[in-house]
Amino acid sequence: MKKKILVIHTGGTISMSEDHETGAVTPSEENPLTNQTSALLQLADIMVAEPFHLPSPHITPAEMLLLKNIIEEYDEKHGIEGVVITHGTDTLEETAYFLDLTVQFSHPIVVTGAMRSSNEIGADGLYNLISSIKVAASDEARDKGVLVVLNDEIHTAENVTKTHTSNVSTFQSPQYGPIGIVTKRGVFFHHAPTTHEKYSIQHVSKRVALIKAHAGLDSSMLFALRDMEFDGVVIEALGQGNVPPSAVEGILGLIKKQIPVVLVSRCFNGIVQDIYGYEGGGKHLKDIGVIFSNGLNGQKARLKLLIGLASNRKQKEIDEMFQV
Ligand code: ASP
Repeated sequence: MKKKILVIHTGGTISMSEDHETGAVTPSEENPLTNQTSALLQLADIMVAEPFHLPSPHITPAEMLLLKNIIEEYDEKHGIEGVVITHGTDTLEETAYFLDLTVQFSHPIVVTGAMRSSNEIGADGLYNLISSIKVAASDEARDKGVLVVLNDEIHTAENVTKTHTSNVSTFQSPQYGPIGIVTKRGVFFHHAPTTHEKYSIQHVSKRVALIKAHAGLDSSMLFALRDMEFDGVVIEALGQGNVPPSAVEGILGLIKKQIPVVLVSRCFNGIVQDIYGYEGGGKHLKDIGVIFSNGLNGQKARLKLLIGLASNRKQKEIDEMFQV
């Protein structure tokens, strides 16, 4: 019996074409993937939704929330058994992680995309879509959180990130690796995530900024964020979780205004910890009330903080969210 899978097309290179004269890659009048639906029907009982058609730099948390609502509505009305979302690769990991934290759905959700548009040589879109449907239809994909499938690899939304501007093997999970592979013979998992978190959310109207630390970072941007009344700030700190002393005053200014400050590292492996006791070191930052994250990258910590704030969590509960 074929599984009932909802395919949601949202745009991105996977649904674009290249103009052979100018070389520009743009969305076409008609999504080339929609024409492929009949080929996909061999793999599953497919339903298609196309709520918007956007390059992924145009996607915001509002579209992510819309996708969450669409999945939950289809599940309620049609009893779907899996979901595949096609998405631009630039912000794909953010949408995948947002859905991972918020969608109430017990079947697999797979997010995929392409690095080459539909009419380029070596186009990877249709292939990735087929692999993703196979994963979404597999029983083993259940209870593994939202998955990202491209280039024959299965990654968790929590760990995956886009690592290369143009290579088809761009999606990697630094430090952890993929949790499974897709081959001609089937879908094989070799690891399983150890934690599952879900947060209930109705809106995404909080403003959370993301700042990258660098040698000599001062407090001016942090003061500006406080004065603009941002609701939360994520800092991609140096190394194990340190900032230049010149940034400390700005962090204190935010904390005094009860604006949560979450720390991640600009290193793409490892976690932040309260190790160093000098001014601006991790120990100092922890003592003044900075929240230490648990290995998420900056863009995902930003979404998690936004979700925590939008679900009215207090500082202590937000701190707990980042320890999971
Ligand atoms: N810039 C494109 C996008 O994210 C890249 C892609 O889809 O691969 O929409």
